[in-house]
Amino acid sequence: MLVWQNMHTHTHRSNFGGRDSTIANTVAEAESVGLTLIGVCDHIDEPESGREPLILENMKERDELDTPVRVLIGSEVSMNAPDQPAVKPEIMATWDYVVISANHFHLPCVSQPDERTEEGYADHFLTMAEGAVRYGASIIPHPFSYIGVRTMENGREIDWPRLMAAYDMNRVRRLFAEAAAKGTAFEINPGRLGIMPEFFRKIIRMGRDEGMKFSLGSDGHHPGQMHYGGTEKIAAIESQLQNLGVLETDICSSYAPRACTA
Ligand SMILES: [Zn+2]
Ligand SMILES: [Zn+2]
Repeated sequence: MLVWQNMHTHTHRSNFGGRDSTIANTVAEAESVGLTLIGVCDHIDEPESGREPLILENMKERDELDTPVRVLIGSEVSMNAPDQPAVKPEIMATWDYVVISANHFHLPCVSQPDERTEEGYADHFLTMAEGAVRYGASIIPHPFSYIGVRTMENGREIDWPRLMAAYDMNRVRRLFAEAAAKGTAFEINPGRLGIMPEFFRKIIRMGRDEGMKFSLGSDGHHPGQMHYGGTEKIAAIESQLQNLGVLETDICSSYAPRACTA
């Protein structure tokens, strides 16, 4: 069984979070389809945002639940520049785990590449991800196939094959080796594998070769997204992951604070 965790969920405490997206509801959804591990990571995007106490509120709500599902509480923190996570490392270290986004390029607080081309974004993502690993991310969310912006320079649409071709795969391999050493997992979001599955097949094999683990997450903001859409969808995701060559041993099974020690 591959789909037993969802390490990327948000509550009503995140922008766009549905009002019903409480921790209790998220956990009930997870339980209904047999997930055994859930991660709740409401957003902190801006430095000095004052949002850190919300993470403690999530912990308090979690502690009041009576459930067999293990629930880790942390935050999805934006890298604003290669050496600037939105939250100080000593604060991140007090959470159960931390998801550090290296490609929230839609946010005004996040630095853009010099050139707004596929090559520019691919390069900038890798630089930001190297920083996120250095700062002790447990998970790098929505890697490679998400860049947040809708258009490239001159307003043209993103050319997805060009973006995927723009990643320097030797540099990706070094990044995965570093992630493996630090205990950082890269996320697989089943909803994003449709773009260039062959690229992800390569990524999964390369991660395994370097000893790196993968987390599974839906980036759910609304009820119905926390359990990947239910039992039937999960069965479809299982075979999709199998087709991409994902093995049970590729999935990270233990998230120590700020580190995956699987
Ligand atoms: Zn994100
Ligand atoms: Zn998210």
